[in-house]
Amino acid sequence: MKLRWMTWLFPSRCPYCRKVIASDRTECEECAERITSEGLRRSLETGNICMAPFCYEGAVRDALHGYKYHGKYSYADSFVKAVLRVLEPEHYQTDLVSFVPASPKSLQKRGYDQSRRIAVGLAKELHKPLVPLLQVGKAYRPQHSLSAQERKKNVWDAYEMLPGLSPMGKRILLVDDICTTGYTLAACSRVLMQSGAKDIFCVTVAIRVQNTG
Ligand SMILES: [Zn+2]
Repeated sequence: MKLRWMTWLFPSRCPYCRKVIASDRTECEECAERITSEGLRRSLETGNICMAPFCYEGAVRDALHGYKYHGKYSYADSFVKAVLRVLEPEHYQTDLVSFVPASPKSLQKRGYDQSRRIAVGLAKELHKPLVPLLQVGKAYRPQHSLSAQERKKNVWDAYEMLPGLSPMGKRILLVDDICTTGYTLAACSRVLMQSGAKDIFCVTVAIRVQNTG
């Protein structure tokens, strides 16, 4: 809850159209209507499914960009609400919520973990424990220094279990902000399944549909 003078100085804005909104709203009314979409579904290389409320384009892409790179933390509330709209019964039957971890380098740069923040909100709404399970391993290299083929392998080998933790027998709701190629979620799902997880259900705010850049 914002203090009154802060609301006056920094009014809440709709993440998708930047219109000023009441402090108890998470987006404007017009954009709220758009959120009630059917949801998108993507099959990952591991056979796991990723669901998202939005296509990664236009206003949603801008909102995610602001959230990820310009410290618009409060957008997480709207993203969580949007994701909740597309969840199916199996998502509610998971044992815990986890998330794709940021690399130490991007954590240092941004100061917060964008996927974790969305996962925190979802865990709270679903009354599930939030359990960080994965970390980015030391072998991970910055993607911009690599060719397309090297990037895929880099992501595929990037993640490992946090020491001392086991997902044995658990059904996991795995959260990330965006699903572009799907390799990241597939790589994380693979590690969790190899470590004994029973099932992985992935959710993101947006999925990049082919041919939309
Ligand atoms: Zn709006």
